[in-house]
Amino acid sequence: MTRRPGFPAKLDSGPSRGAAPRPNAPQPSRSALDRTLPPGGLGLDSQAVRTRMVEKLAAQGISDARVLGAMGAVERHRFVDTALITQAYEDTSLPIGLGQTISKPNVVARMIELLLGGRTDAQGRLGRVLEIGTGCGYQAAVLARVASEVYSIERLRGLHDKARENLRTFRLANVHLLFGDGMVGYAKGAPYAGIIAAAGGQSVPQAWIDQLAVGGRIVAPTVMADGKQALVVLEKTPHEMKQCVLEAVHFVPLKSGIA
Ligand code: SAH
Repeated sequence: MTRRPGFPAKLDSGPSRGAAPRPNAPQPSRSALDRTLPPGGLGLDSQAVRTRMVEKLAAQGISDARVLGAMGAVERHRFVDTALITQAYEDTSLPIGLGQTISKPNVVARMIELLLGGRTDAQGRLGRVLEIGTGCGYQAAVLARVASEVYSIERLRGLHDKARENLRTFRLANVHLLFGDGMVGYAKGAPYAGIIAAAGGQSVPQAWIDQLAVGGRIVAPTVMADGKQALVVLEKTPHEMKQCVLEAVHFVPLKSGIA
């Protein structure tokens, strides 16, 4: 069982746990997925596989029942391409096209657990959340189960469209997909109870801090002075931003502008 520090523990480095970019991996088409899956997709089998994945997440130290429940419910195999379906529930990052990756289940669960930080509203949910880097839409679907509203921004048109397509059948009324540069946040949805970044920048943009509610948290992979990425958690108090640097991670870079 892996023991990991919780917020506000402080670590300078740790084992590598993040999503490794695999820019050159082959990308089978999405429609091939529908042709290959038996009617009803992976069906009941996929629930059994997810249950095993959740047991593994719990053994690795994820303890928030809301996070484990959401990870057990969202069909990760619907977000990856045909050739990768058999790996959908393994603890591995996977290519999603345009040189980007979907993080390991363990990293997604860990970051959402940190984002929640034990905070909930009367319904046991976090309030409005902003996700930077929609990618294939998987993490947005998980967030939709633990937050009241999810605003998710993607800077690559191709992935924004792909996420829209992937999420269509899930009919998540509380997920709002946005095409744009997430480095400037999304002021219209502010203030946010949580902001979660799926790409690593040199620092946490001021816009995210400005758009965070008091009591809210930012969870973001960030490049440290040694040039390596670490998971950073920022918490806004009425008087200051509290920062905590956790384990080393490997996310795709946070880039400015759209493409
Ligand atoms: N959460 C995603 C992971 C996507 S990988 C999922 O579940 O699939 C990170 C994504 O961040 C990439 O798609 C990349 O294009 C995007 N990204 C990088 N910089 C960005 C920015 N400034 N604004 C919005 N998206 C950005």
